[in-house]
Amino acid sequence: MWRRAAVYGPWLSIRLVNAGFHEKQGNMSRKLHARRIEGIDKNIWVELTQLAADYKAVNLGQGFPDFSPPSFVQEAFCKALNEGFSMHQYTRAFGHPNLVKILAKFFSRIVGREIDPMEDILVSVGAYQALFCTFQALIDEGDEVIIVEPFFDYLFALSKQLKGCGPVLSSADWVLSPEELASKFSPRTKAIVINTPNNPLGKVYKRKELQMIAELCIKHDVICISDEVYEWLTYDGTKHVKIASLPGMWERTVTIGSAGKTFSATGWKVGWAMGSEHILKHLKTVHQNSVYHCATAAQEAVAVGFQREYDVFGTEESYFHQLPIHLHEKRLRLADCLKSVGLKPILPQGGYFMIADISNLNVDLTDPSTKDEPYDYRFVKWLIKEKGLATIPVSAFYSPEHRNEFQKYIRFCFVKEDSTLQAAEDILRQWSDGKLKKF
Ligand code: PMP
Ligand code: GLN
Repeated sequence: MWRRAAVYGPWLSIRLVNAGFHEKQGNMSRKLHARRIEGIDKNIWVELTQLAADYKAVNLGQGFPDFSPPSFVQEAFCKALNEGFSMHQYTRAFGHPNLVKILAKFFSRIVGREIDPMEDILVSVGAYQALFCTFQALIDEGDEVIIVEPFFDYLFALSKQLKGCGPVLSSADWVLSPEELASKFSPRTKAIVINTPNNPLGKVYKRKELQMIAELCIKHDVICISDEVYEWLTYDGTKHVKIASLPGMWERTVTIGSAGKTFSATGWKVGWAMGSEHILKHLKTVHQNSVYHCATAAQEAVAVGFQREYDVFGTEESYFHQLPIHLHEKRLRLADCLKSVGLKPILPQGGYFMIADISNLNVDLTDPSTKDEPYDYRFVKWLIKEKGLATIPVSAFYSPEHRNEFQKYIRFCFVKEDSTLQAAEDILRQWSDGKLKKF
């Protein structure tokens, strides 16, 4: 077992060593599944995306645009496909040279230091794989990882809580308690994960909050994993700050990005991890021994997209400037609609999700197939099946210990065509006629 495991890489061998033989499955008597997958077999995206499709629901659930990426990246993709053999073959394992070069040039200007394209960047199969490589490469059994709740459901380990204070009106009102955060650092803490702008809340961390996190990281010699996939999507003058740009943080931060979010092309699955060479080299070890690299033509198209954005950066022509303006209108429209039907939305400062309080809805949930699930899960499934509208339960973004406290919110995605938002609005308005309590 040890020898076989070593073929695939040392991170697998740690957990394979005690695999047992005790479960009867079909005509096999050995235990089939590895222990590491226990408890993670259910997946909210798989389950609810299928349910939404089965009921042909209007989909404000899963976070993907139902419109096309900008034409300059689409054209770049088509051009790449017609450029001869090379775009159809393997490229450099850790990132197509054109892409890592322009990512380094683009982000050097933002982080305020020289980023080495060959050493400091790893291109991955979406931000998902960048997170996977980071955890596999840096976190050992017994290490503690602090994750600020609510968190993108893919992450789970130790968690912290973002506490609502005062009247909850804007995601800016949800603040991190410095005392609580400080109390969670221990000698075993290896890393902290933050996500700004946050999914699902839309909170954008202020410089002061990041400074506080940075000081704790430096004091306790902890790595910061900063998921910034929605970095270009901020509203009402809110500014996204990269924690890696704060003094002393470049050396200990892994910044995660996604071309799927950046260029509205989630299906391309191009993402990256960026950070100091001494950390990134370990992520590369995982990457080279798992997927090796991601699609060459998609990387080339993203490279052309970033070069174009580099050239027009800070002007009105920039997609990074235009997309948040476009989404701001949709955000206000959705918030107005939710308020008008008696829901209490929390206006996000960033990202493309909005959560809303459903506690004043008196829906009688009688579906026996969901009776053991949290209230928001049951509500969301009822909304898909009975009203044809898909959303996401917010308790999915909390650890099991805190899930019960956050069952009164659901998440709406507004990176959708106006016609989709209109269809959702029609459903909600029809339903609200006499059925939802207004306040
Ligand atoms: N991080 C966050 C916060 C996300 O919301 C998502 C999914 N949209 C990801 C990472 C994964 O991104 P990708 O689609 O690039 O893998
Ligand atoms: N991250 C996306 C969201 O929050 C979806 C990810 C997925 O579908 N796996 O909606």
